[in-house]
Parts: sequence; structure tokens; C-alpha cells
Amino acid sequence: MSRTTDLYDQYILNTAKRSFTLVRGQGVRVWDDAGRELIDFGTGVAVNSLGHAHPALVETYATQPSKLIHCSNLYYNENAGPVAEKLVSLAGPGKIFFANSGAEANEGLIKLARLHGHANRGGAYEIVSTTNSFHGRTMATITATGQEKIYHGFEPLLPGAVHVPFNDIEAMRAAIGPKTAAVLIEGVQGEGGVFPADPGYLKELRRITKEAGVLLLMDAVQCGFFRTGAFQSFERIFEEAGDESAEAKAFRPDAISMAKSLGGGFPIGAFWVSDAFAGLFAVGSHNTTYGGSPLGTAVIGTILATIEKDNLVQNIRDREADLVGGLKALQARYPVITAVRGLGAMIGLELAVEPAVAMPKFHEAGLLLAPAGSKTVRYLPPYIVTRAEVGEALERTETALKGL
Ligand SMILES: *Cc1c(COP(=O)(O)O)cnc(C)c1O
Repeated sequence: MSRTTDLYDQYILNTAKRSFTLVRGQGVRVWDDAGRELIDFGTGVAVNSLGHAHPALVETYATQPSKLIHCSNLYYNENAGPVAEKLVSLAGPGKIFFANSGAEANEGLIKLARLHGHANRGGAYEIVSTTNSFHGRTMATITATGQEKIYHGFEPLLPGAVHVPFNDIEAMRAAIGPKTAAVLIEGVQGEGGVFPADPGYLKELRRITKEAGVLLLMDAVQCGFFRTGAFQSFERIFEEAGDESAEAKAFRPDAISMAKSLGGGFPIGAFWVSDAFAGLFAVGSHNTTYGGSPLGTAVIGTILATIEKDNLVQNIRDREADLVGGLKALQARYPVITAVRGLGAMIGLELAVEPAVAMPKFHEAGLLLAPAGSKTVRYLPPYIVTRAEVGEALERTETALKGL
């Protein structure tokens, strides 16, 4: 017990199981309070997209606050517009709303569904989402989350939640009816265990939602913003499948939420909504105090510029090949590995043991990962990771596997 952990025990609500105390980070590495160095492939659960203490981010934090940190949405600021312009150029014709977290970004999608239901579907309010999904911890987002352990004890939930199995188009077809306002899915289920959507599922989902007049909402809080080696996971999913059909090329949801890697550690979220539905929001209908602040959007701008300047999308793809290749080679020798799956900087290692058993072994070996689902650990390296660092992480993985 240290003074740090004592203070947590005494004064911080006990809602999380914490391992040890981190005091410093640099690049892909972090150090604990005993001076031990660890490779961080958990990145605060898919957040530190540029790793720790990236010079460009340090520079932004060093300069923007002396100009303007915050001014509210009663005023324009100079940083939000160019960032929104860039995000729209990546996502497609539409508009951006800036928020503060993934859950708040998803709240925006859920409110969009309600507005659409009222304006265009006779008050329809049901949102069909998937079992094993994760959408956040607010009341609306735990309602959408298809995992009992997340909403247990908080009932009654919001009316209109329907959950169907992921990648099951027939279940989705059966669930969509006159009361449905929207469908909400992750392109790659993250917390649920790193399960990418099938390309055929995505295309069919787009077709049936359009036909039914129901919104297709995508929660890209974890799998979006270049995480999979493309701006959006669905782009990478179609590319991997070699799907060059017109449907795949034209595929676009009606709204997309983002957070995590978007802020690289600054608490920020955002959603994009297509031009067809952006008009459902009006002045005063939705807002947030901090969203789109000069500092927050300066941070996003720096991350976007760094990804472009340093060609990090290509790096994510190259390091994916190193990491997946290495993990598959380990799988051949360690039967405790039951599967390797994922895309880009979002790779799940499925094990024959629970994450609660595996995580301490990875920690002992000097590697931070993130647990997912009931039997998977996630490799979520920062976009700046090098081939040598992936190699080190693989060595430490093998050390951990020897103890399992
Ligand atoms: C982390 C996560 C959220 C919630 O984001 P917060 O910033 O913790 O509110 C929502 N959806 C997905 C897919 C996530 O991974």
C-alpha cells in the first residue's frame, strides 16, 4: 500500500479495478512509481494515438492555453472550423458536433434518432443495437449497450432498446419495424472482444435501413479515427475483403461517433452527421459547454496534422503486419492462444484463460494491454509505434505466455 493507493481507497469511488501507479510516459513506454518500464499497448484503452509526451502535442499544450483555453459555444473560436472541415473531408458531406467523451458523442447519435423518429417516422423511437456491444456509461448509452453487466442495477432503462446478435442480418431484419428509428452498431466491436463486422452484413444493413427509412448509426469511438488503418473501419473491412462493388464504395452511415484516439488523451468526442439529416438539429436543440473548445480542437488539429505528416496510416498497416504475423507465429507454439483477429492498431488475442488471469502475467512481462470480453486481450498500440517496439512487445508477450 502506498500513499497514492491509500488516498484512492479512502476518497475515490471504488468503480474500477486498478493495477499499479503510473507516473510518466514517453512514446510507447510508461514508468510506474517503482521506476519499472512497461510498453504501453493498452494506450489508456485506445486513446493515446500519438503515444505519450509526443512533441507536437506537448507544443500544442504549451502554446494554446496562453492564447485561449475555453470560451463556450456562445462564441466562435479559430480552431474548431478547420478541424471540422478536415473531418468532413474524411467522413463525407455533413456536419460535425464536438463533445467531450465517447458516451456523449453517442448520446448525440441517440438524440438524432429521436429527432428523426419525431420528424419523419410518426414518433418511432426504438434503436436496434447488438448484443456484446459497448456504447458508454450514461443512461442512454447503457440502454443501447447489449451487455447485462453494464446496465444491471440501473433499470428501468430508456424505452425502445432492442438488442440482436452482431453480424446477424436476419435478426436485424426481423427487429426493424414501424417503431424503429435507428440501428446502432460498432464497425469492430471493441470491449466485446474485437469482432469486425462482415462486409456483407454492412452492405445489407445499409440497404435495409435505407429501405425502411431508418438511420444507420455507427459507433466509431474505438474503431474509428484511423485505428484500423483507415479513417473508418468499414473502409478497411471492404478493402480487406477485396470488395470493390458499387455498394461498398458508396457505403456511408448516416452518422458516426468518434472519441478516444481523436483526442489522444484530451477528453473529447465528436459526431458526424450526413447532410441529409444534419438539419434535424436546430439552434438550441443540443449543446455542451466544453465541446469544440479552442484547446480541445487544437489538440485534434495537431493529431490530424501529425498523422498526415508522418504517414501514420501506412505505419499502422505496416506494424499490423508485424504484430499479427508475430502473434500468429506464437499461436503455433502456444496453444493457450485460441485466435488472433482484428485490423490495424486494434488486434485481439483470444486466450483459453480469462483476462483476469492473463493480465498480471503481461504486467510482469512489462506489457500493458487492455482486456476485452470474457477471453480476449487487446493490442491497441499508438500509431507511432516502430517495428522494433512491436518486436519487443512480442518478446514480452512470449514471456507472459510461458507463465500461462
Ligand atoms: C470507450 C467506448 C465508448 C465510451 O466512451 P467514453 O469516452 O468512455 O464515454 C463508447 N463506445 C465505444 C465503442 C467505446 O469503445
